[in-house]
Amino acid sequence: MKSHRMQLPREVVVGNETLSLISDICKRLGFSKSAFVVTGPDTQLVAGRRVIDLLRDKGMAVDHLLVDSSTAWDVRAVEERILELKPQIVLGVGGGTKIDVAKLSSTRQGIPFISVPTTASHDGIASPVASLKGLKKPYSILAQSPMAIVADTNVIIQSDYRFTSSGCGDVIAKLTAVHDWKLAHEAKNEYYGEYAASLALMSTRLAIQNADTIKPGVEEGLRVVLEALISCGVAMSIAGSSRPCSGSEHLFSHALDLVAPNKAMHGEQCGVGTIMMAYLSKMDWKDVRTTLQKAGAPTTAEELGVENESVVEALMRACTIRPERYTILEEKRMSHDSAEKLAKVTGVID
Ligand SMILES: [Zn+2]
Repeated sequence: MKSHRMQLPREVVVGNETLSLISDICKRLGFSKSAFVVTGPDTQLVAGRRVIDLLRDKGMAVDHLLVDSSTAWDVRAVEERILELKPQIVLGVGGGTKIDVAKLSSTRQGIPFISVPTTASHDGIASPVASLKGLKKPYSILAQSPMAIVADTNVIIQSDYRFTSSGCGDVIAKLTAVHDWKLAHEAKNEYYGEYAASLALMSTRLAIQNADTIKPGVEEGLRVVLEALISCGVAMSIAGSSRPCSGSEHLFSHALDLVAPNKAMHGEQCGVGTIMMAYLSKMDWKDVRTTLQKAGAPTTAEELGVENESVVEALMRACTIRPERYTILEEKRMSHDSAEKLAKVTGVID
């Protein structure tokens, strides 16, 4: 039997004021000398500065770099600093882009990294995959799992609620992602891991069950989304790929990024994609829509801020984004007509 490697986080700390534990966590993991912090112009004020100060207070040599985007250039810039400073650990403090840059640069330089998210907008905060901007391929690439995840709800709850509702969209996406994974297993004999699949689906189930608590300023609901996203990240670590968390609904989102760039957030687009892919897969698509509505996430083209035609075009292009990833879209090829029908019947366009 072929061997299967899982790389899992050692510590996951979620809760109020967990940021103050950062130096203890580093020390427990064996990093008490030096660290490099990747943060952003805004996130340094929210948490980055504090992380740097807390580590320095314990006598660690800490350097940092502010990044504003996640391009190959940003990753290279951090790699150069890592080469020069040789820190024991890299910390990504911020939203998705900062964590992606920290994750990729640390992987390439063979140094572990710790994820300190300041938003709960997608599962990249805990996953071994990262996405780079400005590449031909708009989807994520395999890097390494964070050695620890330190999620301070006190910090994250202060972020724009739109990030959290978007995170809910990325969680609900696992419903169709796992279904697509199963299809790939049946049709193409692709590796399918029941454990990783169940873990991803459990996250979706918990989000659906607790959708009423996912509201602005409600810590309980934020925790549901946060823990669900972290479990999804772990599911990817177990699977060794993004398969349990990214299927046809993600292909739709990636296609929409090309058709109508920078209009909506990743999780928002995936949520709307899930409504339509659930319909195609004969799943309970109305349940998906109700959950997103309860969480205040978009369910229509208008709410995403994109034209109806962009949704139709993205549905048609979705299957071309990543041809090796077998999904329901291979079985139900989209013409302009069928794409438009699908978007209409699910109320995404009118
Ligand atoms: Zn995602």
